[in-house]
Amino acid sequence: MRYPVLRPPYVYRWAALLSTLVVAISLLVSMFSPGLDQSPAAAQVAARQDVPAAASTPAEVSAPPADPSLIHTTARTGRYVALTFDDGPDPAYTPRILDVLARNGAVATFCMVGMQVTRHPELVRAVLGRGMRVCDHTVSHDEELSTRTEQRMTAEIQGCWADLQVAADKDVPVDYFRAPAGRWSPPMRAIASRAGMKALSWTVDTRDWAMPGAARIVASAQHDIRPGALVLLHDGGGDRTQTVDALEILLPWLKSQGYEFDFPA
Ligand SMILES: [Zn+2]
Repeated sequence: MRYPVLRPPYVYRWAALLSTLVVAISLLVSMFSPGLDQSPAAAQVAARQDVPAAASTPAEVSAPPADPSLIHTTARTGRYVALTFDDGPDPAYTPRILDVLARNGAVATFCMVGMQVTRHPELVRAVLGRGMRVCDHTVSHDEELSTRTEQRMTAEIQGCWADLQVAADKDVPVDYFRAPAGRWSPPMRAIASRAGMKALSWTVDTRDWAMPGAARIVASAQHDIRPGALVLLHDGGGDRTQTVDALEILLPWLKSQGYEFDFPA
């Protein structure tokens, strides 16, 4: 009986040799050039992980869509910019920000949280004493306030207004209200309006709340600021050292570009 000799055809042997070579070469490449396996997407993920998680509560996530019922511009037209500082007052950063503003002849609007106002009433008086304006930013900075009952919204909005009056120890004009995280609802706007406050938005989000580094805060402001811009910054809600450092660069730069400082419309 004859048994056929089982030999794989040449083409299979070549294929096996080739695939072994391919595997060996790709292993060598990945060993000697570790950067190659980092696709742009992977690099972005890594970069994002470098940004300290915004451990601080308040995150005005991004610029809200333009809404005609919200204030989006400065009081005067022309080369003006309005700086707004949210989530304070804070004993570590509000006084430092007031100093930088004073050295640069700048004014700003401080959107204060009632709980902070009650803890640091002297800072409310310091802000007003420097010719700045205050803005109602609710009692507790509940970012889901737009989903709560109307009674709760009223308590949060009118409560902060009252906290500001008590802290100032005199009648204080509170011209503006800003919703926590910029999350508005028609009832919130109506409650603020009945209390004589305008709904304050912003046009430039420096993302200082994410602590990307002073240089990036400055760069994002320089890129986005136009005449009439409302700039969102923070003096409270976390470590605001980067915001203070950014202002030391940004304010002289704004002046060198011919900008003056104003309040929101
Ligand atoms: Zn806020």
